[in-house]
Amino acid sequence: MRKTRKAILALVIALSLVSLASTAQSPAGRRGAADPDIVAKIREEGLQRSQVMDIAGYIVDVLGARLTNSEHMKRAQAWAKGEMEKLGLSNVVIEPFMDYGVTWDNEYFSLHLLEPDYQPMVGYPLTHTPGTSGKVICAAVVADVRTRADLAQFRGKLKGMAVLASPPLPVTQAALSQGVNRLTDEDLRKLEENVTPAPPRPTPPPPNPDLLKPDEKISFFKAEGAAAVFQCEGGRPGVVVGYGRPGTKDDKWSREKSLDSLPIIAVTPEHYNRMYRILKRGLPVKVEIEVRNRIGEKAEKASNVLGELPGTDLADEVVMIGAHLDSWHASPNASDNASGCAVALEAVRILKAVGAAPRRTIRVALWGGEEQGLYGSQEYVRQHFGSPKDPKNPPTPAYAKFSAYFNQDYGAGQYRGVYLQGNEYARGLFAAWMEPFRDFGLTAISIQSVGSTDHVSFDQAGLPGFQFIQDRIAGTAGHTNLDFLDTLSPEDLMKNAVVMAAFAYDAAMSDVRVPRKLLK
Ligand SMILES: [Zn+2]
Repeated sequence: MRKTRKAILALVIALSLVSLASTAQSPAGRRGAADPDIVAKIREEGLQRSQVMDIAGYIVDVLGARLTNSEHMKRAQAWAKGEMEKLGLSNVVIEPFMDYGVTWDNEYFSLHLLEPDYQPMVGYPLTHTPGTSGKVICAAVVADVRTRADLAQFRGKLKGMAVLASPPLPVTQAALSQGVNRLTDEDLRKLEENVTPAPPRPTPPPPNPDLLKPDEKISFFKAEGAAAVFQCEGGRPGVVVGYGRPGTKDDKWSREKSLDSLPIIAVTPEHYNRMYRILKRGLPVKVEIEVRNRIGEKAEKASNVLGELPGTDLADEVVMIGAHLDSWHASPNASDNASGCAVALEAVRILKAVGAAPRRTIRVALWGGEEQGLYGSQEYVRQHFGSPKDPKNPPTPAYAKFSAYFNQDYGAGQYRGVYLQGNEYARGLFAAWMEPFRDFGLTAISIQSVGSTDHVSFDQAGLPGFQFIQDRIAGTAGHTNLDFLDTLSPEDLMKNAVVMAAFAYDAAMSDVRVPRKLLK
């Protein structure tokens, strides 16, 4: 294994030499990219005077959940803007990016099993659903409808009832014993040795037209006069997973459609399965539900928060770092992605503290609308940079001046390397920038492309956008009711902020902008 690692290192160095030679760097540029004093200062500030957990703690404990266009999110964005201003960043702005929908905030939730036995229940409402009219006591019923043909048997039978609309979900016991799950040397080696980019995923076959879509099921239950719908996803012990009302994207998070739906409540698999089993015995289940949601009167724009550390002689060229500030609504989502925002803010704090004077401008972005579909970063790229692939929205002058975007959104675990996103031309620079952090375990460079977060918006437009390879550490991960500060590792986040600061600085000082791969 060591031999292989040495071979990879040799290859990385060889490639980096090729890259350095081909871009004819001046001594000044090389010194900027690997200035030992700056790296030492960044390490000292970030590891000995870190504020990353204080920042993460404020977002998680004080600000709480941050659903896009909720009142909660607006408060968090105002705070983020204030923090950037306190750090002394320039051009700090809460920048609207698209017509979104109405605000939605859950103000109160209460759920109890009353029969056959009293039990408080754990759950929460899906976003953009209505509340109940006060406290509702009702019978539960199984109506696991899948196809149009299934509907007939439930007609006239659901009035005033709470519907269990899906089959019971097995609880995955393995998750109980998983513990901290860091990437091993073997995992990293496999990532590096996987040298051919994976082919694009085949397009899935069209859905079976007989199957009911989730929003069609809810419409049926509503038409039948049901009182509420229970659902259960994920199958992890004690964990509630639930997102938005089906159809929200199509109706653009509308007030009318939200009010016209039913209270949809996600519960733990244990509580869901218990109700389901009792009902299958033919015994009655009675529940008490109260939900109060605040739904905005009119559609509003969603926003990103941005600030800059201005560049010097190359100020019109831009390096970006960032993470999404929005989250799902049932917990503060410490790992997804308060941790990434804390790392990005701490990275610029470190750069300010060490007196960095980057040649290129370093811009930090805290995105909105990521969880609903990367909307914040996509619209930002569209409006500021354009894309050669989009004739209606051709590249702007800023497109040519852009260097790279670095993102954190794969949980709160420490960086172990970086995905090249298919860009072989970035390998040499990244190998050099990672070198001072081998003691952090930051060693792997993978050619693979990864998705599901904001660097994709840059990559799709042909701009260099990257996500770090991260350890998957403890916790329930995002999108649940249990993503709090307790499972964040301070040391992991301190290291990440140091690496993020160094990458931003190196990219801002390098003689060349991060090279681009061939546009597909
Ligand atoms: Zn995320």
